[in-house]
Amino acid sequence: MSQSRPSANIGVVGLAVMGSNLARNLASREGNTVAVYNRSPERARTLVAEHPEAGFVASESIEQFAASLAKPRTAIVMVQAGKGTDAVIDQLADLFEDGDIIVDGGNANFHDTIRREHALRERGLNFVGAGISGGEEGALNGPSIMPGGSAEAYATLGPILASIAAVAEGEPCVTHVGTDGAGHFVKMIHNGIEYADMQLIAESYDLLRRVGGHDAEAIAEVFAAWNEGDLESYLIEITAEVLRQTDAATGRPLVDVILDEAGSKGTGVWTVQNSVGLGVPVGGIAEAVFARAVSSKPAQRAAVQATIEARPEIQAPGDGFEDDVRAALYASKVVAYAQGFDVIIAGAKEFGWEISLGDIAKIWRGGCIIRARFLNRIVEAYANNPSLTTLLEDPYFAAAVRDGETAWRRIVATAALSGIPAPGFSAALAYYDSLASERLPAALVQGQRDFFGAHTYRRVDRDGAFHTLWSGDRSEVATA
Ligand code: NAP
Repeated sequence: MSQSRPSANIGVVGLAVMGSNLARNLASREGNTVAVYNRSPERARTLVAEHPEAGFVASESIEQFAASLAKPRTAIVMVQAGKGTDAVIDQLADLFEDGDIIVDGGNANFHDTIRREHALRERGLNFVGAGISGGEEGALNGPSIMPGGSAEAYATLGPILASIAAVAEGEPCVTHVGTDGAGHFVKMIHNGIEYADMQLIAESYDLLRRVGGHDAEAIAEVFAAWNEGDLESYLIEITAEVLRQTDAATGRPLVDVILDEAGSKGTGVWTVQNSVGLGVPVGGIAEAVFARAVSSKPAQRAAVQATIEARPEIQAPGDGFEDDVRAALYASKVVAYAQGFDVIIAGAKEFGWEISLGDIAKIWRGGCIIRARFLNRIVEAYANNPSLTTLLEDPYFAAAVRDGETAWRRIVATAALSGIPAPGFSAALAYYDSLASERLPAALVQGQRDFFGAHTYRRVDRDGAFHTLWSGDRSEVATA
């Protein structure tokens, strides 16, 4: 395992599931010699022993690892996000020299990435936060990669990342997203949209089951059929697989024996926190995050259930119920993506990034968890008009939502009347209706704000800011 001559053009630090698969992917591409290192040497030994074909250059110390890399040294860090990442970056930064490149391929918080990039740039090093999506399988066979950092670093790194990325419509699913934390920011939004997508699919399943009266296997077939049309996507495909699975121990559908408390690792929460901070409404994504949180409150669920005497009667499904659910799913999905892209626009403005929304849609078409036929439509939408105010104004999406609107309303109403939670569908519809309404009760809210806090309001018929003397004679005064 010793190697002192710098012979590798790329290195990977952190050889747990993601790092080892990414290292194997890199090694399988023509022209790459891959250096590998892991804090506990056993992982590196196992990887090298199990994959002699990869020709890994393995090191048992980080100094040896740095020495095994040819200049400019380029290392991808795939360790636990947070403290682990900071520790490894610090070690590498002490060993690396001007122009060398440290890539964080983990799920870092983009604020940390901005901090790290600035600190390393001052030391003459390139730091690239790269969002990598696709899980274990994607890391091995082709993920979607969202790198940030400098253009200089991307010149070296881009071709290497392009060689391992998924390919969609003949193009590698990687692009230089923007400077410093832009890549991790966009990966965060990807995950937020993923939460929404999953929640909407879960609500569709619940309605097909409880209102439609289908069993899990029949619903698997519904999803499989949907996967042949506009809804074709990785998440719909795996949903059918999960619903088809039978529990070996009980003979029941696996979905019926899985505890109904959904977990999360934080990127959905970050999306919502940052969107709120940026003033961007992301109800579809937020409700998906909240739905997981509600599911994971067994004590509160039990307490409320104990107070209930009778649940509402489940509504009759009506003709074309499945098609209605599909329409509600599609329209709500359009809203979730529209909201996600809105956050990217706001983030780019706030943090000074130039992000091509069309390019983001392109690199999400393959390799990542939200990959879907649908993304081609988004690529087309931004190609037709790169400065769309909202995805919902694109003629294709506007028509798609209009066409499904009545069905969408029927589904939200059916869910509410049946006592079946559909927070994703209803929040998406409320958002659409808010945008679609000529007048909103925000006028009344402004009146209330002016009453208790003299926050002033603007008028529909005149420029300027106004205040009513609520505790005086209630006449109106112009304040600006
Ligand atoms: P993980 O379980 O998140 O982390 C384990 C790895 O981190 C091990 O190699 C461990 O080394 C190393 N590590 C932890 N603390 C360290 C420290 N202080 N110094 C040095 N090494 C340290 O691994 P993973 O599941 O493969 O994920 C790697 C990264 O990818 C994470 O950021 C994760 O969030 C992200 N991820 C992404 C996806 C995706 O779909 N994109 C999926 C899963 C994970 P030892 O072996 O010595 O303990």
